This record gives sequence, structure tokens and C-alpha cells, in this order.
Amino acid sequence: MTEVAVVGAGVVGLACAASLSARGFGVTVIEREARVAQGISARNSGVIHAGLYYPVGSLKAQTCVLGRERLYARAAAYAVPHRRTGKLVVAASPAEAAALTALYDRGRDNGAGALTLIDGVELERLEPRVRGDRALWSPETGIVDAYALAKSYEAEAVRHGAVVVLNTRVEALEPAHGGWRLRTVAKGGDRFALEVDVVVNSAGLGAVALFDSVGRPATPRRTLHLCKGDYFALAPALGRLTTHLVYPLPDAHGLGVHVTFDLGGRDRLGPDTAYVDRERYDVEPEKAAGFLAAARYLPELRLEHLSPDFAGLRPKLQGPDDGFVDFVIEEGTAAGVPGLVSLLGIESPGLTAAGEIGERVAALVRAVA
Ligand SMILES: Cc1cc2nc3c(=O)[nH]c(=O)nc-3n(C[C@H](O)[C@H](O)[C@H](O)COP(=O)(O)OP(=O)(O)OC[C@H]3O[C@@H](n4cnc5c(N)ncnc54)[C@H](O)[C@@H]3O)c2cc1C
Repeated sequence: MTEVAVVGAGVVGLACAASLSARGFGVTVIEREARVAQGISARNSGVIHAGLYYPVGSLKAQTCVLGRERLYARAAAYAVPHRRTGKLVVAASPAEAAALTALYDRGRDNGAGALTLIDGVELERLEPRVRGDRALWSPETGIVDAYALAKSYEAEAVRHGAVVVLNTRVEALEPAHGGWRLRTVAKGGDRFALEVDVVVNSAGLGAVALFDSVGRPATPRRTLHLCKGDYFALAPALGRLTTHLVYPLPDAHGLGVHVTFDLGGRDRLGPDTAYVDRERYDVEPEKAAGFLAAARYLPELRLEHLSPDFAGLRPKLQGPDDGFVDFVIEEGTAAGVPGLVSLLGIESPGLTAAGEIGERVAALVRAVA
């Protein structure tokens, strides 16, 4: 049996483990934390993206659209809490209309499902507390309980014989005997080396460092840029502000500070995009005024309605001055590291795309096994 180690038990690594174990591969998932899905998978908007934003044909676009369909089917089959809320992207002024139309065209070309451009009157009918010149309506967008989704993949993987090892960090990857040796250290300090045929590096924020531990000059170098997104909770006294997710137009690095809510109905604003030089999760209270300005489509909001909530970190390959950078989902034969499957830069829409990424990884592994 081909043995595969998956590094990282986030939603993506667990989806890979489910797809691989269902195809008969022997799978060991290695996770440094005491529980699964406590990394990026625990600090995000929980939105099932329709596929509006990414360049046509990119991996982000393909895996988002196909992953979305898989996610809705899976959520129904595994009773994963979710809701097809729909979403509105709002053009605040006539000057933004062209950008909204471009988003509509891109979404249509990507296969983002039914999309409609609506005017300000229709917007007000759908969302009486939102103001805008016009909007893009995406009924296929929704929200999901990310932890429950990750656990559903874990359950499927374990049912097919996968083993999940917690509290164990993979320090380095080394080629060994035609496969790979993983040097690991457990929380108590114990070290052991595991040899497998194939490694899937799905270590989220740690994936680039692990990739670099291979130390092969032939492998292309990638740089990790940490990009923090803060969220502010909205005062319960406001009541439910919106019944759909409401976004502004996207900017160069993110989707814009939007109104999102979880399945418990808690409203929040966020996330912004701020490149940071180390892992940190503090929410900066002084950002509240900027969030308020960004949410100008909600005229009722006042500064006192916002309180710091939580922050997440994006594992971007796109630096502050770079243009679009796609997901890296690749098997390393061409780069001189056969049997090393790398998942790098899995930022948004990684939660939506996880199931499709898992299937693609299983296909890559099958091709070299
Ligand atoms: C602010 C923000 C908002 C987002 N919103 C959305 C959204 O609304 N919709 C959407 O589709 N996507 C969204 N995303 C993206 C989505 O959350 C991620 O793409 C997805 O969760 C990534 O999952 P992962 O499994 O790759 O990473 P993680 O969940 O981080 O999993 C990686 C795991 O690897 C472990 N690990 C790391 N290094 C090692 C090591 N050396 N050894 C062992 N284990 C290791 C970590 O502990 C972690 O558990 C958002 C992301 C951010 C930051």
C-alpha cells in the first residue's frame, strides 16, 4: 500500500486525507496542535464563496466553484451546519458601477451560479438598512460551520483507515529510500522519524517553511507574506442589520470589509488586510474608525457599535506590491522533489475550495504512486 503523510490537520489537510484514504492510500495526518482545525481554519469569515473574484481559469476560481458544489453536497450528506444566505456586493456610488459590472462578468465566466445586477431601489427592498447605488446579487453564496466541516473530513478519513497524530510538529522533510522521511517532535520533546512514499504539505502558515526545509536549489523559492485580517463585532442592540452577507467592491489584497454573520446570527465587520512581520492575533481597536468608513453602505453604524472581535492570518504568496498570485497545488517531480505534494498560499477561498483541493491532491498522488 502506498503510504502518504499529510502535514497539517486544517480543513484542507483533512479534506486531502479523506480523498486519499477513500482511494485506498494509507494515510497518516500529523498535526502540531492538540486539536484539529485550530489554525487558519478557525479564524475566517466562514463564507462559502460562489467564485466571483478570481481570474478566470485560475486554480482559485476552479477550486472555489467546484469546491462550493462539493461543500453544499457534503454539508447536506454529513449534516454540517450551513446556510445558503446569498450575498450582495454593493457599489456605493455611480463611479463604482463599472467595477461591479466587471465583477458580474468575471463571476459569470467563472461559473459562480446565478448572478443579477440590481438597482438601488431593489437593493433597499432586499436590505432596508443598506444604502448603495446598485448591487450584484449572488444567491449561491452561503455560510458554513468550518469546524464541523473539518470534522466531517476527519471522520471520513478515519472511517477509511487514516490515522490522525496530534501534538506533533514536523520539523523537516528529507528524501529517503525513494520516498520521504519526516522528522517530527512531539509536544513532550520526543522525536521520531516517519518514512512514507508521498508527503502532502498542507501546513497552512507553516507550509512554506516546511517546503524550504527540503533545501533543494532546484525547487522554486516562494516567500510567505502574513496578512492579518481583523474583525469587529457589531453591537447586539443594532438587531440583525442584514439578512444577506453584504460586501463592498474588493480591493487589491482582500474582498473589502464586509458584513458577515455566523450561524448563531452574530454580526461582525471585517476582515481588513494588513501585512505583518510575525504571527499575531491582536485586534487593533484604533482601526474601528477605518472600518466604519469602509462600511459606509451601512449609514446607521456609529463608532460605539464596533468592538474588537478576533483576527485571522492569511498565508499569502502575494506581497504588498504584487499582483494576483494563485494557489500552489503541485507535485514535485518537475522540480526534482518527486512525491512531495505542496499546498502553498492556501488563503481565501481555501475553506470553500477544500473538498476540490482534496480531490486534486488525490489525483496527483495517484499519478506518482
Ligand atoms: C481572515 C480570513 C478570512 C477568510 N475567510 C474565508 C472565507 O470566508 N471563505 C473561504 O473559503 N476561505 C476563507 N479564508 C481562507 C480559509 O480560512 C483558509 O484557506 C483555510 O482555512 C486554510 O486551511 P488549511 O488547512 O490550509 O490551513 P490551517 O487551518 O492553518 O491548517 C494547517 C494546519 O497545519 C498545522 N501545522 C503547521 N505547521 C505544522 C508543522 N510543521 N507540523 C505539523 N502541523 C503543522 C497547523 O497547526 C494547522 O492546524 C479566510 C482566511 C482568513 C485568514
